[in-house]
Order: sequence, then structure tokens, then C-alpha cells
Amino acid sequence: MDRITERFLRYVRIETTSSEDMDSCPSTPGQFDLARLLVSELRELGIENAFMADNCFVYGHIVSNLDNEAAKVGFLAHMDTSNAASGKNVSPRIIENYDGKDIVLNDTLTTSLKEFPQLKDYRGKSLIVTDGNTLLGGDDKAGIAIIMEYAAWLLSHPEVRHGDIYICFTPDEEIGAGIDHIDLKHFPVDYAYTMDGGSPREMTYECFNAATAVCQFTGVSIHPGSAKNRMINACELAMEFHALLPVNEKPQFTEGREGFNHLEYVEGTCAAAQSVYIIRNHDSDILERQKGDFRRAEKFLNEKYGRKVAEVDISDTYRNMREGFTGREYIINNALNALRKNGLEPTITPMRGGTDGAKLTVMGVPTPNLGTGDMFCHGNHEIVCIDEMKMMVEVLKTLTDIIYG
Ligand SMILES: [Zn+2]
Repeated sequence: MDRITERFLRYVRIETTSSEDMDSCPSTPGQFDLARLLVSELRELGIENAFMADNCFVYGHIVSNLDNEAAKVGFLAHMDTSNAASGKNVSPRIIENYDGKDIVLNDTLTTSLKEFPQLKDYRGKSLIVTDGNTLLGGDDKAGIAIIMEYAAWLLSHPEVRHGDIYICFTPDEEIGAGIDHIDLKHFPVDYAYTMDGGSPREMTYECFNAATAVCQFTGVSIHPGSAKNRMINACELAMEFHALLPVNEKPQFTEGREGFNHLEYVEGTCAAAQSVYIIRNHDSDILERQKGDFRRAEKFLNEKYGRKVAEVDISDTYRNMREGFTGREYIINNALNALRKNGLEPTITPMRGGTDGAKLTVMGVPTPNLGTGDMFCHGNHEIVCIDEMKMMVEVLKTLTDIIYG
């Protein structure tokens, strides 16, 4: 078995499911077990400075072998797995020279071509699948294995010219909480790349602009028997407000670059109600128009009832990371060229969600995402393509050459 596969299998056997229910970082102790293993493996490779911080972040620094100043570049992957499926006792199975047919995971579960038609492109490749009882954890342990294998290559090839390269393995990405706790003192890079899921062709440097609207509705609560012409039901105000928003701008009716307003939560009594929406669009001008729809609905209700029945509070949560690359498009173009040089024609996928890279970009570290060869993640049909993991190690080698060569 080759080394990257061995690494990957070692990592997925450690349960690192993160949990929204915990406020601590990391949210679950299992992530420490993987972090400790990764520190010891980094040290074995010769990265003596590798360490784990108290909050489970793993940092390592491969020191520049250049005489001149050069870009400091980082690579990140996350250690936790989604809690959408169990990550306990992951029992991976390797399928060599995949025959392009349905994959029987166990007596009751099959990954079928009908459900997952893209499988047909993987004929002849080597895949890693689950036993049907857990997720695989390729999101994002494939990213970790790729970065480790790349580091191993760099350290065993002193003739390869490179600047300071920083590695960071992060906890709690899946619950959207981890990266807030990164200590950039240990990751002092000019820019970075996350290696997190998807086909090697896929590159992501765009995400939504995001806002949250918290809507308060104040009713007039009176005994229903004597309510005529006096009661204003706050729950009905929330429903009326919702009906004033564009009907088609909902997650279930949108894809690609189409934004949406998503009613996340609603609760109330006759006296008072609250609804919470998330507002999303890749285009910040359109996002402003969407916010305007909320304010118009608020104004309409208050005028209709002749009193302040609705109060909408809108706050921005994150921005499209693309803005962070303005004037530094080479960060994207270098990676695109590295993909092309390895025969991969890139597809640019606008993320329909936030990413650790988006948050890092806001923190001043522009960070696009590269694929890893992981697919159908967050469930028991998850598959990692070994050939694609290996391909991404080659892409990182080429990227090093493009940046420092
Ligand atoms: Zn991920």
C-alpha cells in the first residue's frame, strides 16, 4: 500500500466528529488524538517546531531555503468530521481498479450509479469507501493526507527551492467555529490554500456575502372572546412579513450564483414573535437589494397598522472572499496554472456557504480552496479517490515550483 493511503487510513480511524453542542475549542476530545498524531508525524518528517496549541490547532513551519525574501505560504486542512453521520469505528475498504459498477457497501446499502452518476468517471481508479455504517472522513482527512505527503516530499528534496511554508491543521470546521481561534502568530503567511473536499478540478475563491435579519413583532394580546378590532396577533405579523418577501428567493428555488433569504427560525405568542433569516448573495449589490426588501416589508407593516409592530435588525456576518484577492489575483492564477500543468482543466465553483478560507481572507490572509478527491461527503456513501489525492500532491509540487521556481 502506498504511503498516502496508509496515512489516510490512519487518520480516518480516529473519531473526530465535532459537536455544535459544545462551546469549548475543540468541541470534542477526539480531535486531540488526531492532533497529537499529526504533531508526532510532522516531527518525524523533520519539522521539529511542529506543536499542538491548547485549543488543538496544529502548527508547523518548513523553513525557507532561499537567500532572498519570498512569499510565506500556508496550507490548511481541518481535522474534525461532520456530525451528519457517525465517525466512530470507521472501517474503510479499498477498491482497486474500480469496475465502474454499483458499489455494494454492505447487505443493505449500495452506492449506485443511478444515484451517483459521476461514479462512471472513476472506472479504473482506486477508491476508498466505507462499510456503510459511518461516513469516511475524507472531508477533510484527504486534505490532511495530501498536505502531509507534500511536506514529506519537500523535506526529502532539499534541492527544491521554497520560501517559508506553514502548515496548520484546524479543529471544528464543520461547526463553523474553529478558525476563529487560529493564532496567526504561528501562521504568519502572506496567503494560504485550504485543501478541503471536492474534485481536483474544482477551485473555490468565491463565497456568499452574508447577513442575518432578526425580526421582532409586537402584537396586542387580548382575550380572544373580546378581541374584535383590537387584537393584533404577533405570530400572524411574522407570517404576513414572510409573505411580503420575494417568493422565489428561497434556498429550495436557487442554485449557482442565485442568492436567497432563508427563514431559519420563528417563534412567538399573540403578544410577541420573532423570526430570524439568513440573507445570502455572491453579489454584494444584490444582497443590499435583498436587505432593502426586509426594510420595505417592515415599513409596510408599521404603516398598515399605524404603530410599530415590526422591527428588523440586519447585521452583516461575512463577505464574499473574492474581494480579498483584488490586486493579488496571482494567488488564484498560480493555483489554476498548477492544475492546468497537471492536465486538470479547472472549474470555478462559487461556494454556497461560508468556508474557513472566507474567514481567513477577512482576517487578511487570502485563502482559496483546492479539491482533494473526496466526494459525497457527510454521509455513508462518502468516497475518496486515491489517484486524485496523489494528483493533488503533484499539484502542490507544481505550485511550489510556480511560486518559487
Ligand atoms: Zn471540509
